Amino acid sequence: MSGPASLYERARRVTPGGVHSPVRAFRSVGGDPLFFTRGHGPTLVTQDGRELIDFCQSFGPLILGHHDETVARAAHQAIDDGWSFGACEPYSLALAEWIVAHVPHVDRVRFVSSGTEAVMTALRIARGATGRSRLLKFEGCYHGHVDSMLVRAGSGLAGRTAASSAGISDATLSETVVVPLDDDAALDRAFSEHGSSLAAVIVEPLPANHGLLRQRTEWLRRLASLCSSTGTLLIFDEVISGFRVGLTGMAGLTDITPDLTCYGKVIGGGFPVGACAGRAELMDLLAPIGPVYQAGTLSANPVGMRAGLATLTKVASLDGWRELERRAEAFADDLAARIAGLAEPPAIIRAGSVLWFHVSRQTPRRVDAIDSRQGAWFAKVFHAAVARGVYLPPSGFEVLFLSLAHDDACLDRAADAIAGAMIEAAA
Ligand code: PLP
Repeated sequence: MSGPASLYERARRVTPGGVHSPVRAFRSVGGDPLFFTRGHGPTLVTQDGRELIDFCQSFGPLILGHHDETVARAAHQAIDDGWSFGACEPYSLALAEWIVAHVPHVDRVRFVSSGTEAVMTALRIARGATGRSRLLKFEGCYHGHVDSMLVRAGSGLAGRTAASSAGISDATLSETVVVPLDDDAALDRAFSEHGSSLAAVIVEPLPANHGLLRQRTEWLRRLASLCSSTGTLLIFDEVISGFRVGLTGMAGLTDITPDLTCYGKVIGGGFPVGACAGRAELMDLLAPIGPVYQAGTLSANPVGMRAGLATLTKVASLDGWRELERRAEAFADDLAARIAGLAEPPAIIRAGSVLWFHVSRQTPRRVDAIDSRQGAWFAKVFHAAVARGVYLPPSGFEVLFLSLAHDDACLDRAADAIAGAMIEAAA
């Protein structure tokens, strides 16, 4: 006689693939997904009561860890005060004022409910501002599930596109030019062919959605200069890097000023918040004062606004970005030392508190430089790590996130477990 259906079996009956976002299904690592019922500090607790040190942290938002007390208090207070008004309130004002006061290239902020919406809004502003329709993105960069962004390069260079999803029209595809990262010649060719018709270039200045493909600052500068010489707007998608690698994101670290910036993840402290932000004259193209329409029933929801402000002010008051840098560097060094004896030690690639393990020693800067063994190797590491009490993001192409709740003792235990998992995977 068969036992009761598992949660996953039940979920598959009522939800496509049993999940509400594809990576959660564990397709890349195999096996049934874990179900979690609680998170506290650096750990997640499975439905059957196992505690795992979590390096996914909800794919990045939880920079203070799970159930941070300050953020929880702010969210509880928001619920006590009524959680959605659909009207003006002081909480989004406080968060927007804080951001404008701390991020020099931001004069105005429009809050939305996800990173995807932030990208949609930025692209629409760019088209409205320039009167042009073509967009340029880079292979391997993810900008949410906006139709025009679900496109990657074919085997050729700029202009050759192929959809990454069914359901996207040829007309949409034809308006997106895709170029490999870290390729000066391809970039120059794309601009000489399309520069005068590009509304915007969108880039993750720290590409972190196909592994962690750290870019050369000179390459980003070249991109910024091509944009300014052709009247193309430069959009930094800092949904991952914003308020994660530092207070002013990659723009601050590289000293490059984008025209528009997309935020998500950390800005909402784990609640559904995104934002499009930038210079006043561009942002003021938005309705109700400008011709570019954008709206949202739950935009600037008070719970997310108050949780977001509590998160950012707490990280800032703790000098949290510097502390995360210290802990992440020590963790990466410790892990590297523990696996140094392997015949082919994997690379531990890092930018602030964002990390990625690459199966070979190389540090790739573009998608086609990623070792073809990456996916299969990481699947072994993932399961061996879970068996040792550590939860990594369930794909070899997703990055790890450290939080301020991962203290030195926790990171020591985690380094031991992950090194053990890598040694087992190599055996
Ligand atoms: N942009 C980047 C760089 C992202 O990493 C993501 C999500 O991971 C998005 C946009 C989309 O954000 P959301 O999932 O909140 O819609």
